[in-house]
Amino acid sequence: MNFAVVNLGCKVNRVESDDAAALLAARGRETREEDADLVVVNTCTVTGEAEKKTRKAVRRALRANDRALVVVTGCAAALDPSFFEGLDDRVEVVGKAALRERIAEVADALSSSQATLGEGDAVAAEEASVPVAHDGASLLRVGTGFRTRVGVKVQDGCDNACSFCIVHVARGRAASRPADEVVRECAAYAAAGAKEIVLTGINLGSYRDVGASRCDARETRLPDLLEMLLDETADLRAPNEPPVRFRISSIEPRDVGGDLVEVLARSEGRVCRHLHLPLQSGSSKVLREMARPYDAAAYLALVHELRERVSGIALSTDVIVGFPGETDGDFQETLSLSRACGFSKIHVFPYSRRAGTPAAAREDQVGAAAKAARAARLRALSDELRRADYARRAGSVELALVEEDGLATVESHHRVAAPPGAALGSLVPIRLPECPAEEL
Ligand code: SF4
Repeated sequence: MNFAVVNLGCKVNRVESDDAAALLAARGRETREEDADLVVVNTCTVTGEAEKKTRKAVRRALRANDRALVVVTGCAAALDPSFFEGLDDRVEVVGKAALRERIAEVADALSSSQATLGEGDAVAAEEASVPVAHDGASLLRVGTGFRTRVGVKVQDGCDNACSFCIVHVARGRAASRPADEVVRECAAYAAAGAKEIVLTGINLGSYRDVGASRCDARETRLPDLLEMLLDETADLRAPNEPPVRFRISSIEPRDVGGDLVEVLARSEGRVCRHLHLPLQSGSSKVLREMARPYDAAAYLALVHELRERVSGIALSTDVIVGFPGETDGDFQETLSLSRACGFSKIHVFPYSRRAGTPAAAREDQVGAAAKAARAARLRALSDELRRADYARRAGSVELALVEEDGLATVESHHRVAAPPGAALGSLVPIRLPECPAEEL
């Protein structure tokens, strides 16, 4: 059974796709789409552009060969299953909840209907992906795709309702994995040699396990989970090697409380002192219309608190430009607040109208030219701020994860040249040179 997994979209999708690939790798061989009997396409709908790419990816999978079954899953498929089902009889839309079970079923059926693999093929399949642990919900492997940084999904869905967002509709209500299951999975990765684990979720800060509480606490929240992970993995390392570190993929400002700040401040880098803290706009008026539960002053106060209590923390963010009704004045407030926050990176998203959201129904949409101009202006500021953040760190020492192409990612998430000869996936101290990798 040959399979291919095509991923689009965010880090959560990436983790889910890797998980699907690991599950299928135990049953067959990962190949190009042209040679696959089964193609899984994990779709995205966060912007109009992402949706276009999704539709193209499914059509490409159908064109790649004329026999593969194409399983379409993810946010775009959840919102409009009939579009994908209407493309071809070979398309099957599967919800995220049923995905593991269904692709295992399909793969087993395909395997039994084909000649069994020859001995050489079986060895090749084994080498292509090395399962190292099985933890009920998660088949783990350390091999291609997992060698350096491992993503672990701990949460899905979102109970907020930002007025521009369709993802919370596609993903449904917030749900968290049991803490003990997450700890077992991360410990298995650490024992297998992973040095950086990125905790991911659609709304990670809402993580809450009511069934696995420690001590007298009624529920396990993200800071408690981090403490558990730090405890359980501290000794899972070879002599003279640093223990695995954890990175929080993205967290809403409302979910950064004193407990989390405390963990960040005390963990000495085992929880990376880097937070991705979506701002979305620097205008309190626009934030209110986006239904974001903070204003510009509250956001800035949080940034000041983080900088005061967590030495050397790096902060990156997401900003939407051209939200309906956004004026030049509102945009200027975004520029000013971004500067005051001293972000190390701003991911700039020109507003994309998503059908079914309150913002899409507004009549005061911003024109394409204004959106493009604001996006370019903010990206230029992002570059300037990134260079300034890096310049403040140049000459200091940070632990860096050695990745592909001779690059390494330091704790603050800047990328630098890896030390010659450093092993892929290792965590090594690096004195930050004058120039980050982007400038070389
Ligand atoms: S926090 Fe807002 S933007 Fe993020 S997934 Fe939830 S509703 Fe969407």
